[in-house]
Amino acid sequence: MAKNYYEILGVEKGAGDDEIKKAYRKLAHQHHPDKKGGDEAKFKEINEAYQVLSDKQKRGQYDQFGSTFDGANPGQGAGGFGGFDFSGFGGGNGANGFNFEGDLGDLFGDIFGGGGRTSQARQEKGKDVAIDIELTLEEALEGVEKEIKLYLSVVCSKCSGTGAETGSKMEKCKTCSGAGYVQKQKRTMFGVFAQNEICPDCKGLGERPEKRCSKCGGDGRVKEEKVINVKVPAGIAEGQTIRISGAGEAGFRSGSGKSIAGDLYVTAHLKKHPLFERRGDDLVYKLDISFSQAALGDSTTIPTLKGKIKLKIPSGIQSGKIIKIGGGGFPHLQGRGAGDMYLTVQIKTPEKISRKQRSLLEELQKEGL
Ligand SMILES: [Zn+2]
Ligand SMILES: [Zn+2]
Repeated sequence: MAKNYYEILGVEKGAGDDEIKKAYRKLAHQHHPDKKGGDEAKFKEINEAYQVLSDKQKRGQYDQFGSTFDGANPGQGAGGFGGFDFSGFGGGNGANGFNFEGDLGDLFGDIFGGGGRTSQARQEKGKDVAIDIELTLEEALEGVEKEIKLYLSVVCSKCSGTGAETGSKMEKCKTCSGAGYVQKQKRTMFGVFAQNEICPDCKGLGERPEKRCSKCGGDGRVKEEKVINVKVPAGIAEGQTIRISGAGEAGFRSGSGKSIAGDLYVTAHLKKHPLFERRGDDLVYKLDISFSQAALGDSTTIPTLKGKIKLKIPSGIQSGKIIKIGGGGFPHLQGRGAGDMYLTVQIKTPEKISRKQRSLLEELQKEGL
């Protein structure tokens, strides 16, 4: 099927920009799919033509290679026309195909972007809720269950989320006659368009309670304090977020079965520890030892996040040496195993010494130590 963009817009080949724009406005208005007698295919074709002819570069290419371009199916990618991208026109989700800006873009976004024209009730979702929690390194190592108090919209206990007063039935929404959406006039540079918007009364459900629930006012939800137990997995790191599906705010009239609750996002923050530092899934501890421990070796105990453990210090160890305790770090959240614990050895020089220590050290000095 040959496409003559000038013919589609009903203008001469030498038409000026203003003329093309004018013709496009008129035709776009006339064939707009939301209008009575509108034609979506035709509307898309008009837009395709306008997109080329309103662009100096594209129009130049089109004029020059017009004969080969004729008959080329944009969906298959016309050979040699790398500059054209019509991918959005055929795919149904046309919004991507339009490169317009300003109110035209908004307009098309509304029309093709989903939601607008469909008569199906869209699924309402309650708001997502995000909170932060603080954890000690011990909690992050072992995992913990945290009790969190939230003040948020929950399903109304009186009407079980239907929004209807006890004994009252649901009826067709009068505002939208049960369609779930209402028509709105939208003014654009192409004139006035009728657009469908979600019904403000039933929010797309198409029905509403005959008599509204006295506790929630018909919303099907009320604000309440709610306690949630959050299971924090072992190994969680700073800034990681746990998503708890459905633990956010209740949806509008969730009792209708057409709306779902939002999600809860819990972000972990790790408190600073006086002894340990976390690096990735490893744990770092500064091990201070005395000169004699370093020279002679020693059996000692050191702290870990799970309690004290015994440690053998080998004789002759140097300052700056790192001792690795395999598996002594945080469990890997993804995959098996755990990080390690690293002890960085530092030989401490005494700042104050007793008279006896002094004389012993003087003896050592004489021995060349
Ligand atoms: Zn209620
Ligand atoms: Zn309605």
